[in-house]
Amino acid sequence: RTIGADLELAIERFGDREALVDVAGGRRWTYEQFGRAVDEVALGLLAKGIGKGDRVGIWAPNCVEWTLVQYATARIGAIMVNINPAYRVHELAYVLNQSGIALLVSATAHKTSDYRRMVEEVRPDAGSLREVVHIADPTWEELLAAGTSVPAARLAEIAATLTPGDPINIQYTSGTTGFPKGATLSHRNILNNGYWVGEAVGYTEQDRVCLPVPFYHCFGMVMGNLAITSHGACSVIPAPSFDPAATLRAVQQERCTSLYGVPTMFIAELNLPDFASYDLSSLRTGIMAGSPCPVEVMKRVVAEMHMAEVSICYGMTETSPVSTQTRRDDDLEHRTETVGRVLPHVEVKVVDPVTGETVERGEPGELCTRAYSVMLGYWEEPERTAEVIDADGWMHTGDLAVMNDDGYLRIVGRIKDMIIRGGENVYPREIEEFLYSHPKIADVQVVGVPDEKYGEEIAACVILKDPDATLTQAELADFCRDRLAHYKVPRYVDVLDAFPMTVSGKVRKVELRDRLAEELR
Ligand code: ATP
Ligand code: MG
Repeated sequence: RTIGADLELAIERFGDREALVDVAGGRRWTYEQFGRAVDEVALGLLAKGIGKGDRVGIWAPNCVEWTLVQYATARIGAIMVNINPAYRVHELAYVLNQSGIALLVSATAHKTSDYRRMVEEVRPDAGSLREVVHIADPTWEELLAAGTSVPAARLAEIAATLTPGDPINIQYTSGTTGFPKGATLSHRNILNNGYWVGEAVGYTEQDRVCLPVPFYHCFGMVMGNLAITSHGACSVIPAPSFDPAATLRAVQQERCTSLYGVPTMFIAELNLPDFASYDLSSLRTGIMAGSPCPVEVMKRVVAEMHMAEVSICYGMTETSPVSTQTRRDDDLEHRTETVGRVLPHVEVKVVDPVTGETVERGEPGELCTRAYSVMLGYWEEPERTAEVIDADGWMHTGDLAVMNDDGYLRIVGRIKDMIIRGGENVYPREIEEFLYSHPKIADVQVVGVPDEKYGEEIAACVILKDPDATLTQAELADFCRDRLAHYKVPRYVDVLDAFPMTVSGKVRKVELRDRLAEELR
């Protein structure tokens, strides 16, 4: 099925139920109203000469128009290009030209980002760009008005020409380990993935899902929008960008049953001074993904946020994104120690990164995925695609994982983050989990830094609970003594106020590593 056909089905089944709530703007849509709004945008795009295969960029923080563009482009077979709202001129220019965007839908301004000015700045250098439409601006009204001249029957005619394997989306990866790559995805890729993620969480039309995660990322648009709509549930947008207090207010006000976030978002919510004053009793589930969650945080999410069924997902943009997920009946231990088991119709294997041979269960190796969800490829980068998808269709994830006897997977880190100290493989995650129990430490990231003697040495970058406190290497070494193998004890301690993050909420370890390496030189 295509995304357009799936939306039609949802409208038929759930027509008068609520589909979408914009909390900040105080606006609500039923499935039927949402479907009509999508058609208006789709017709507007047709009027602007956008057709099958043309690239339409979307550059905005979370808003209803974002979702409308997502469905409208899919409905006419255009390829939506997600652009990170944190990008600046230089990165915007790269994406516009790399993917050949013909029409750009952009926000006007939000917080420190003057989108309108930045678009004007890059326009002369963006050769393919024919038209810019700004949200909450006369150009948006003009887009809708233009659409009224196109017969609505065109949509059905176009729908008949689309197939599930058509590319409809270019999503750039988070850029955690380097420059983002444009994963090209089809209806089949993302619609099915959203469906199965929603199925694992047990969504029905009774669910109301709070989405503080960015739409530009697959977490928001696939595990959020597509998972929700394909099960008739309702999306609640708390704010344009992440705001912990606005998120909890939205949960309380809209009686949300599900809440999404990367671990750092949950940490920020739990740490709000007035956390205890929010009524979160309507929550039953949610999705936590993107990076490993400290055990202590998971316990609090379950106990204090009522999210007894919270689900852990593991995946990557290139696999639409989710490959493994914990299910409702998995116990706390499986939800803190593992990323669950493979989703239906997904194959995984764990291989020795050097020989490519499948390793024994219980042994770490590179996780590989083969499924309907593997991307079509990186947009116009066949060489980079061939580096990650092999001849047999296996996507090499670059992540290190261990599979236990029951098929549960544990992610032990990224190959790129693995520290090799004096020939010993050290997994930062293990040390981070341990250091998290230190009474002074609020958050910690462990990275490898170059060392003449051992090749690499271990450094702990820490954020302290008390910003005025100090933590020395000797103190930390003392804490580790007898509890951590000597070669895992951090040789350096770097106290920071905050970690460099990607917009999808991941710590950019490369930056931490590069900065420390520079300082130590
Ligand atoms: P880039 O590829 O540009 O460096 P990225 O890999 O962070 O960035 P994404 O596709 O957004 O971009 O993220 C996928 C990665 O996130 C996975 O490869 C994995 O390393 C990490 N990840 C995702 N889910 C989890 C999880 N539940 N636990 C641990 N790590 C996770
Ligand atoms: Mg990646």
